[in-house]
Amino acid sequence: MRLNDIRLKFFSKTSGDGNKGNKWSLKWRVTVYFLAFALIMLILLWLFETVFLQSFYKAIKTSNLTSCAQSIEQNINNEDLKTFVEKAGEKNDSCIVIYTPLSNGDYSRVCSVTVNYVCSIHNIPRGELDKYYEEAKANDGRLVRLVDSYSDGSISSDNSNMGDALSKSSSGSSSSYEKIKSQSLVYVSIVEGQNGKEYMIMLSSVVTPIDSTVKTLHYQLYIITILFLFLSVVLSIMASQIIAAPIININKSAKELAEGNYDVNFNGLGYKEIEELNETLNYAASELSQVDQMRKDLIANVSHDLRTPLTLITGYGEVMRDIPGENTAENIQIIIDEATRLSSLVNDLIDISKIEAGTMKLEASTFCITDSIKEMFGRYSKLKEQDGFTFDFEHDCDVYVYADQLKISQVIYNLVNNAVNYTGDNKNIIVRQKCYDNRVRIEVEDHGPGIPPDKLKSIWDRYYKVDKSHKSAKIGTGLGLSIVKSVLKLHRAQFGVLSTLGKGSTFWFELYRTNEDGEPL
Ligand code: ADP
Repeated sequence: MRLNDIRLKFFSKTSGDGNKGNKWSLKWRVTVYFLAFALIMLILLWLFETVFLQSFYKAIKTSNLTSCAQSIEQNINNEDLKTFVEKAGEKNDSCIVIYTPLSNGDYSRVCSVTVNYVCSIHNIPRGELDKYYEEAKANDGRLVRLVDSYSDGSISSDNSNMGDALSKSSSGSSSSYEKIKSQSLVYVSIVEGQNGKEYMIMLSSVVTPIDSTVKTLHYQLYIITILFLFLSVVLSIMASQIIAAPIININKSAKELAEGNYDVNFNGLGYKEIEELNETLNYAASELSQVDQMRKDLIANVSHDLRTPLTLITGYGEVMRDIPGENTAENIQIIIDEATRLSSLVNDLIDISKIEAGTMKLEASTFCITDSIKEMFGRYSKLKEQDGFTFDFEHDCDVYVYADQLKISQVIYNLVNNAVNYTGDNKNIIVRQKCYDNRVRIEVEDHGPGIPPDKLKSIWDRYYKVDKSHKSAKIGTGLGLSIVKSVLKLHRAQFGVLSTLGKGSTFWFELYRTNEDGEPL
C-alpha cells in the first residue's frame, strides 16, 4: 500500500511536463558554468594584461625606486659608496647620481650609475638641478616627480599621470610620437653626511613598460584566449559527460526500481560519490525487496492464520449444532481458544499499525514487576502444562518499576509465547528476574533449536521469520518481536538476545528500578 503511494507520488512528480520544462539538465548546467568560469578568467586576464598592466608596472617600479633611495640614504657615509650605488642601480634598474652642492652654487658629482639609455637625471641642465634642489629642500628634503623622457636625452617635467602622457603622445604629431620614449620617475632626496656635507641623491627609473614587451604580451594574450576558449569548450563538454552520465544511469535504474523491479542494479560508475550513491541505492533496493517480500508473506500468513481458527470455529459450531452430544466443554474450549488466537492476531496487527503511525502511547505507573510476572505465569502455565511444558520463575526479591504495566506484560507474554512456540523436546521454560543496583533484568530462557547468528539482528524486524515455511497455525505472524522492540524502545530499556544453535535462546530486557512510591533507586 505504502509502496504504491510512493510510486504514485513519484510518477505524479516526474511526469509533470510543466515542472521539467523550466529546469536545465545537469549536463547543460555544468557546460554553462564551466564556460562562464572560463569567460570570467579570460576577462580578468585581459583586464590585467591591457588596462591594468601599466598601472601595475608603475606601482612596482615606484615602490622599488623608493626603497632603493632609502637604502642609499642609509649608506651615504659608506666608504665604498660608489660600489654600493652601482649595485643598487643595477639591482633596481635605476639611474643614480649623487651630487654635493658647492658653496659657489655649483654641484659636484660624487658618484653615478647609468643603466637606462633613456635617463632623466644625467644630462639635466644646471637650472633644472637648482629647481630639484630647491623644491626638495622646501619639501623636507624629498621630492618625487614623473617626467617624460625623450630619446634625445631631454626631459620635460610633468606631474600628470601616465594615461595623460600617452594620450598626449598619441594625439600629437607623428614626430613628437617618435620623440617620446617613455615616462620616468625621478626621486630626489637631500641628506647630510657625517662630514657635515650635504648630498643630493637623484634616482630615475623608467615606469612605462617597453613597447615591444607590451606587444609580446598582447600577442601571447591572443593565443592564450583562443587556446583557452577551445580547451574550455572541450573540457566543459567532457566534464558534463563525466558528471552527468553516471547520474543519468542511476536515474534510469531508479525509475525501474520505482516501477517495482527490485532486482535492478545501480552501477553508474564514475567517481567516489556516485559509487557511494550506488551502494546506498542498491542497499535501499534490497531492503525494499525484503519488505515487499515480507508483506507478501504476511498477507499469506495472516490470511492463513485468520482462516484456520475461523474454519475451526465454524466447523465446531456446526458440529455442536447438528450432532447431539457434541455440545461438550472440550469443543466449546476449542472455539474459545481459536477465538482468543484470532483476537491476539488482530491485536498484534492493531499494535503494529499504531507503532507504524507513531501513535502508541505509554500509560506509565509504578507496579511490582515480580507480581506481574507471577500472575501472567500462573495463567499461562495452567494453559500449557497439559502439553508437557514446565515453567520456572527464578527471583529473589520483589521489584518495582515505573512503566506501562500492560505493555510490559505483553512483552513478557510475547517472549514466553515465543519460547513455547520455538522450543524443542525440552519443554522447560525459565523466566529469571535478576536485580542490580538500580536496574532489573528479566530473562526468558528456552532450550529450543536456537537462532542462527546471522539471523539474530533480523528477528526484531517486522514480519521477519527465521523459518519462512508456514507449517503450523500456532507459529506467529512475525510481528511479536517487532512489537517487543518498539515497546521496550518507548521505555528506553536495554534489550537483546543470546542464542546458541542446538542449545536454546535467552531473550532479555532491563528496566530501571523504583521504590514502591515510584522514586528511582
Ligand atoms: P512470530 O510471530 O513469527 O513468532 P516474532 O517476531 O515473535 O514472530 O519472532 C520472529 C522470529 O524469530 C520467529 O519467526 C522465529 O523464527 C524467531 N524466534 C523468536 N523467538 C524465538 C525463540 N525463542 N527461539 C527460536 N527462534 C525464535
